[in-house]
Amino acid sequence: MTALAKYAAREKTSKGRAYTEPGPGPRGQYQRDRDRIIHSSAFRRLEYKTQVFVNHEGDMFRTRLTHSLEVSQIGRTVARSMRLNEDLTEAICLAHDLGHTPFGHAGQDALNKCMQEYGGFEHNLQSLRVVDQLEEKYAGFPGLNLMYETREGILKHCSIRNARTLGDLGLRFINRLQPGLEAQIANFADEIAYNNHDVDDGLRAGLLSFDQLCSCDLFREQYEYVMGTWQGLDLKRLRHELIRRMINKVVVDLIKTSTAMITEHDLSDIEDVRDAGRPLICLGAGVMRRHKQLKQFLHKNLYRHERVLKMSGEAKGVITILFNGYMHDTSSLPAEVRSDIERSSGKHREQAKARVIADYIAGMTDRFAISEARRLG
Ligand code: MG
Repeated sequence: MTALAKYAAREKTSKGRAYTEPGPGPRGQYQRDRDRIIHSSAFRRLEYKTQVFVNHEGDMFRTRLTHSLEVSQIGRTVARSMRLNEDLTEAICLAHDLGHTPFGHAGQDALNKCMQEYGGFEHNLQSLRVVDQLEEKYAGFPGLNLMYETREGILKHCSIRNARTLGDLGLRFINRLQPGLEAQIANFADEIAYNNHDVDDGLRAGLLSFDQLCSCDLFREQYEYVMGTWQGLDLKRLRHELIRRMINKVVVDLIKTSTAMITEHDLSDIEDVRDAGRPLICLGAGVMRRHKQLKQFLHKNLYRHERVLKMSGEAKGVITILFNGYMHDTSSLPAEVRSDIERSSGKHREQAKARVIADYIAGMTDRFAISEARRLG
């Protein structure tokens, strides 16, 4: 195995775990984090959560689970080729969406609205809450007790108000520091993965067309190349050839540009990364423009497509019925959730109750949320 670059995250300089534990035996500490994430309940539930298309719409579309696996594939490629910490990158990528509600962004928006008076709901913060508190897997501590750098990567953004409640981990937002390079890679890998798989799913669902997509330079350039090189390709092979070329184009540029940027900054260690004043994992101007153009295209033409909006509207209804139903009558909640509510006392009782209910709803799969809303409604 090639040695890690000096500015990579490493166990020796890590800020470690909140609860001290014996060493991980044959594994590295970040491998151990990845394994804990894979064995978590929240990770398994990603299989039945929406990415863009509601999970039961068809079984050929991406779910949060397959999305997370694709993010991790891209992240690992970039990390390994830059001699950064691949295990840490993989752990962050696999965990980055653990806090997502059912029904994707529509679900999060609805839950955030329901939670307005009780501190709001934010999926990124929720991912951290899942690994820090909600997973019940160990006798000795709550959550998964992950390494600082893994948690740092999971918390991609955070308001200053929330940052003040997060101790050490929140300081970076208050002091405007950057996260480690592995976290920065996971961030980009997420965008590269969804930009491309949403084109794939959008085409297959018939919500996007090749013609329409040719208004995006990244797509059109590959389309012209593939059509000029292979005549008479069937649509399936054409689509796959295009997607893999688009991913490759962006990933190769990301590695090249970031490597040059790191050389320019002359980094000695991960603290230099944190102090760099800007993210060092980045795309060159030309590819960045193409990448953004495609992202904007998808916002306009796919995420706001009337069929997607219709699903989103229904999803919001489901979340609202659940939240109001449980707040009004906690007897419809499972005993375990009710006892969590009963444990939370004091003057912020309503707020604590709402948080337990939000945690419960956020953990649901799409289909369970729908059947629960039918039962309550
Ligand atoms: Mg994601």
